[in-house]
Amino acid sequence: MCQRDQYFVLILGLDNAGKTTFLEQTKTKFNKNYQGMNLAKITSTVGLNIGKIDVGTSRLNFWDLGGQEELQSLWDKYYVESHAVIYIVDSSDRERVEESKEAFEKMVMNDNLAGVPLMLLANKQDLEGCLKVTEVKTIFNDPLQVMGQRESWVQGVSALKGDGVQEGIDWLVEAIK
Ligand code: GDP
Repeated sequence: MCQRDQYFVLILGLDNAGKTTFLEQTKTKFNKNYQGMNLAKITSTVGLNIGKIDVGTSRLNFWDLGGQEELQSLWDKYYVESHAVIYIVDSSDRERVEESKEAFEKMVMNDNLAGVPLMLLANKQDLEGCLKVTEVKTIFNDPLQVMGQRESWVQGVSALKGDGVQEGIDWLVEAIK
């Protein structure tokens, strides 16, 4: 058995963004024998979901934290330990995109996350009328500018269907090393 490099990855975003669905989809794609939950039946994260995948010589340990407002204050307890952050936006929820941007802004300004690679996922791209990846990029551009010296990437995904998940994880694995 080879010793794998261990990395901790936070999955953040508002409630209902698709964090749990993304984690389940990732585990299903990367763990051959993983049976998984029924993706259509996942309800919003309350508390903490964890999961791990092995990619090459790396083991990624994910923490999917609850996104409800009262839980957001817990996010920064995990920042010091994390090697990367995945921030998920519900591209179909135009009404909450500002709220999501504010939570994102607060997160990227935190000193404990300075220099940590960050991937923004524009989720629910399968839904008609959703914000396109370029639109999400434009909306989140200001906070991305203040992020300073770090690797970052914006990826369009459908966590439900699995589109874009492989590409996103591939980027993350390279960025984290
Ligand atoms: P969380 O609160 O961020 O963990 O969000 P969940 O993973 O629980 O997802 C919230 C809801 O959005 C669920 O009904 C999911 O089925 C749905 N959902 C998540 N990702 C997608 C997606 O890519 N496309 C669509 N159409 N629905 C999604």
